Amino acid sequence: DAKAAGRCTWRSFHPRLDAVARDRLALLAQLREALRRDALQLHYQPQIELASGRLVGFEALARWRHPQRGWVPPAEFIALAESARLIEPLGAWVLRQACADAARWPAGLRVAVNLSGLQIERAPVVQQVRDALQASGLAPERLELELTEGSLLRDTDHAVRLLCMLRAQGVRVALDDFGTGFSSLAYLRCFPLDALKLDRSFVAALGQPGEHSAQAIVCAVQSLACALDLALVAEGIETDDQRTLLRDIGCTLGQGWLFAAALPAVEAGHLIERHARAALLGPAPLPLSA
Ligand code: C2E
Ligand code: MG
Ligand code: MG
Ligand code: MG
Repeated sequence: DAKAAGRCTWRSFHPRLDAVARDRLALLAQLREALRRDALQLHYQPQIELASGRLVGFEALARWRHPQRGWVPPAEFIALAESARLIEPLGAWVLRQACADAARWPAGLRVAVNLSGLQIERAPVVQQVRDALQASGLAPERLELELTEGSLLRDTDHAVRLLCMLRAQGVRVALDDFGTGFSSLAYLRCFPLDALKLDRSFVAALGQPGEHSAQAIVCAVQSLACALDLALVAEGIETDDQRTLLRDIGCTLGQGWLFAAALPAVEAGHLIERHARAALLGPAPLPLSA
C-alpha cells in the first residue's frame, strides 16, 4: 500500500518535473541562439576611487534580454551555460567584447571581467584572454579578472598555476565576493592576487544602526589588504554614509548603485565624458609652473 502511494506521488510529480526540464532545455537553446546571433550584451558598472571620486574603470556584467521573459539574471543563465558547456563560447565572447569596449576608453581606465568556476576549470581561459587582448589591442594591465573563492578552492594547485599564467600575461586578478566563502587566510598567501572585492553583504550591514561587527570586519579586511599590498574594492555601495565610512576606514575603491548601476556601453561612454569634463573643469590644483 505504501508502495502504491509512493508510486502515485511519483506519478503526480512526474509531468511537472518533465515540464521544468523541457523549460530548461528551451531556455538553453534560446541562450545558445542569442549567443550565436550576438544578442547578449555587456553592461558596465563604474568603479570609483573613494577618496577623490575619480573613475578608475568598470566591471563588465553580462545581460540577456529574453524576447518573452525579459531580463534573465546572469546568475541564472551563467549556471545554465555551465551545465551545457556553453560557458566556453560565452566566456570567450564576454572577454572579447569587454576588451574591445575598454580599448575605446581613455587609457587610464580598466575593465573587470568575471570568470566562473567551470570557466577556469575547463575552458582554455589563458588562450581566450590572450586572444581577447590581441584582437582588441588592450594593454593587459587594463584587464582585471574576477574570481570567487569557491572557484579557486575546487582545485587549489590548478588555481595557483592558472593565476600565475594569467598574471604572466600582465593582467590583474581580483578575488570577488570576499568574505562570503571560507575566507581562509592561508590561501590569500598562496594565490597571486592584485585586489580583494569586499562582498556587498558587509557593506549593506555598515548602514544598519547598532551594527558594530560589520565595521570591525571591514576594518580587519582593510588592514589585511593593506598588509598584503592588495587593492580593496567595496561592492554594493548604496548610501552616502556607506561611502563615507568605507573611505574613512581606508577602503580605496568602490562600486554600487550610489554611483551607478551597470550601464549599457553607450551610457558608460557618456559617464566617462562627464568624468573627464569634471576633472578638467573641477577645482583641481593648478600646476605650480602656471
Ligand atoms: P558579481 O560579480 O559579484 O557582480 C556584482 C553584482 O552586484 C551584479 O549583479 C551587480 O549588478 C550587483 N550590484 C551592483 N551594485 C549594487 C548595489 O549597490 N546593490 C545591490 N544590491 N547590488 C548591486 P548581477 O549583474 O546580477 O550579476 C550577478 C553575478 O553574476 C555576478 O556577481 C557574477 O558572479 C555573475 N556574472 C555576471 N556577469 C558575468 C559574466 O560575464 N561572466 C560570469 N562568469 N559571471 C557573470
Ligand atoms: Mg564580479
Ligand atoms: Mg561580487
Ligand atoms: Mg557575486
